[in-house]
Amino acid sequence: MRILLFFLCCLLFQSCKTTYDLVIKNAKVFDTKQGVTLDNKTILINADTIVNVVNNNKSLKGRKVIDAKNKLITPGIIDAHIHPTHFFGDYDAAPKYLAEDSLEFLRKKFSDNYLPFGITAVMIMGQPETWLKPILNWSANPSPNYTDIYTVGGAFISKEDRKPYICHIMVDSPLAAKQKVIDYYKMGIRHIKLYWRLRSPEFAAAFKTADSLGMKVYGHIDNGIMSMDTTLIIGLRNYEHLFTIVRNVSFDETDGRNYEIWMNDFYGKNNWDSSLSFFEQVMNETRFIVEKKLVALDSLIDNLAKNNVTFSTTIHLLAEKFGLTYFSNPNNKPDSNWSKKQIQRNADNFKVFMLLVKKVNYKGIKIRIGTDCPNGGKAALSEQVLLAQYGFSISSIIQISTINGATALGMENKYGSIEKGKKADLIIYDNDPFDNYKNFLSSKTIIKDGMIHYYQ
Ligand SMILES: [Zn+2]
Repeated sequence: MRILLFFLCCLLFQSCKTTYDLVIKNAKVFDTKQGVTLDNKTILINADTIVNVVNNNKSLKGRKVIDAKNKLITPGIIDAHIHPTHFFGDYDAAPKYLAEDSLEFLRKKFSDNYLPFGITAVMIMGQPETWLKPILNWSANPSPNYTDIYTVGGAFISKEDRKPYICHIMVDSPLAAKQKVIDYYKMGIRHIKLYWRLRSPEFAAAFKTADSLGMKVYGHIDNGIMSMDTTLIIGLRNYEHLFTIVRNVSFDETDGRNYEIWMNDFYGKNNWDSSLSFFEQVMNETRFIVEKKLVALDSLIDNLAKNNVTFSTTIHLLAEKFGLTYFSNPNNKPDSNWSKKQIQRNADNFKVFMLLVKKVNYKGIKIRIGTDCPNGGKAALSEQVLLAQYGFSISSIIQISTINGATALGMENKYGSIEKGKKADLIIYDNDPFDNYKNFLSSKTIIKDGMIHYYQ
């Protein structure tokens, strides 16, 4: 009895004494799993981890306390498709190695493109192999000052005649593909990317080896090299870029002729084949498939949905080209020679594409933010705004930005929800996106690994 009493006293004493590193009270917490907001919550944080989320209670003490005043709090945003070449240099401007004595500077330079916007974790979907050592070191040693970074290494391609692009890694046989996956695994890499230039039989060899090691595999399936149907059979479940769906609908010679007539109708005979940019071509193809090949498109979407696949978004990159985003990179602005009619055509095509994206989402295919774009976090926020403008609910946009990415990356034990045991990576919105979607762009307080960052 005495021992029991002693223990009870200890427990009581302990609970009165507990002071957390950070207490965020009066929080309106967004529950990404249920898709609902929960009022009057208190988030308890020790070091870099959420210890608990409880109802408001005056006795909870923190070394630091934030009164959230019922502002919306979500998990940090995850961008599941980025490239470091956008920040350190691409093609000829890319350094062979990331200089040893500049690594801290480079890490900050990289992170400054993401953290101030609330992007607290990113996945590199292809990078030069010579940069792997420092980047894997950043992965293994996360910091409250910087966005967390993960990598797939180089994106896999088969043997090709040209000199491979710096973010690609060439495997010239199934055996080489298998060995490269094993080498990556030994280096600590747990995700791989199969680019559309990877053919059969290397594709299946790479996939099967990675899958047997418990690695996550992402495929950009395009240009008729591998088809989505085939890669589904091989076992692929995570796909890159929503626009690739239409490019995997079967398209025969008759379709080709019909497409030509359809395009001639708008652009004039033989007046579009080489003059249209890649983005315009893709969006015209999308509209053609939606208008003329809906049965085949729906059956592909149903097959993808049945197999529980996921897709990265990459919608800002397209919309920016058509002048439909809240900011644009000078290198990706609409063509100044476009006629009014052509500008309208591109906007209409993009709308058709976004309606398709809505349908894909409605059918149960999980979408995750993956910008693949040189503008870092700015582009991720633009994707949120675009999703809202084309009819996605605020709840689903937050899920697409957080838990969906965490799950597709196999990291839902760390990221994507505000729960006991998850990393203390949070966004406190000064203005609530539920009141107006433009508030996705509003000023925020970012918590990274339990550390408070104020950004305006
Ligand atoms: Zn990419």
